[in-house]
Amino acid sequence: MSGIYVHIPFCSKKCGYCDFYSVKLCKDSDNVQDFLDSICTEIAQKSYLFHNQEVTTVYFGGGTPSILPPDALERIYRTICDNYNLAPNIPRSSSLVPQSSLEVTLELNPEHATDDYFSHLQRLGFINRLSTGFQSMTDGGLRYLGRNHSVSDNYRYLELCRKYGFDNFSVDYIFGYETLDDFQIEDAFRFFIDEGIPHISAYSLGFEENTPFMLRLRKGEIHKMDDDFYLRQFRLIHEILESDGYNHYEISNYSLPGRHSRHNSNYWNSVPYLGFGPSAHSFYDGGRSWNERKLSDYHRQISENRPYSDREILTPDDLFNEYIMLRLRTREGIDKEYLTLHFANYLKHFEKILRRRDLIDYFEINDRHVRLNINGVFISDYIISEFFV
Ligand code: SF4
Repeated sequence: MSGIYVHIPFCSKKCGYCDFYSVKLCKDSDNVQDFLDSICTEIAQKSYLFHNQEVTTVYFGGGTPSILPPDALERIYRTICDNYNLAPNIPRSSSLVPQSSLEVTLELNPEHATDDYFSHLQRLGFINRLSTGFQSMTDGGLRYLGRNHSVSDNYRYLELCRKYGFDNFSVDYIFGYETLDDFQIEDAFRFFIDEGIPHISAYSLGFEENTPFMLRLRKGEIHKMDDDFYLRQFRLIHEILESDGYNHYEISNYSLPGRHSRHNSNYWNSVPYLGFGPSAHSFYDGGRSWNERKLSDYHRQISENRPYSDREILTPDDLFNEYIMLRLRTREGIDKEYLTLHFANYLKHFEKILRRRDLIDYFEINDRHVRLNINGVFISDYIISEFFV
């Protein structure tokens, strides 16, 4: 089992809070053609790394993959098919993608939701899951976040999903900013539930270095909310979704039964993956590697046949930290048997932190698993960091 991530590094406009690598797509430039040439070369170059692996998930992320015409995505997908051993891709019309088949996700922005785009995707047939950033269900919220679409684009997106039979899709939502109130959250999530949206990711607004938001924060033009505000909004979202049958399977992710993201779940289960495109990360053979971040440097990396910009082999301490970090994010939590088998030297340290008087009330512990309870989820970053060696 393994996964493939394809990073499409183009956006039409940078959102104020975003620190993912992307560049503005120039209409009359060759940069798309050059990018396609490089990424297809990279895909073929690295196939030897997965020669004995079955690929079960492919994820087109970005940037904004839907800024590319579907034919460009098809060229990339065909190159993957030609070079990797993919699990069978079943017809998209089946309502659930079986575990044994290929999950192919495309991030499709609301502003690109048109009849033309959806019908083209339907004809191509290989995309069986969509992910989109609604981020807000008010135009004021979308303006605050600097998004490039309106709420009516979000509505149209849902109509088109229904019209073209894309029933396996995910919606992202951002909370925790100064103009968002609890009533808006309730309206948005009641609407998502009424629409039967199968997968919802809810993220608190972050302020990352080198983003327009960080600059505006420093100038005092916008304000960061305090922890109580974040926690109250997170708790509200959590209560609405859980009471309506959504499974909170990872800190930021909720799904209806069987609709979790298999691709992202594989990250949390330390399944190997290859990432293609500028800034993409890979994880295989006990090490993590990453590509050059800038598009021009990435082209050079590929033309020089260098497999990565840098690679680190994870030490036993790194592997332990990573296991704790990834597993405590999930509802399943830490598997005690796995921990004993793979991290025997760390058991004493693990037990010591777990039993700490200031932490013990944040866990649910049974014979097989240790997981965070909902109060623990709210302060997960702190708890996870306490386990690090
Ligand atoms: S949030 Fe998405 S659309 Fe906005 S700049 Fe970042 S990658 Fe592009």
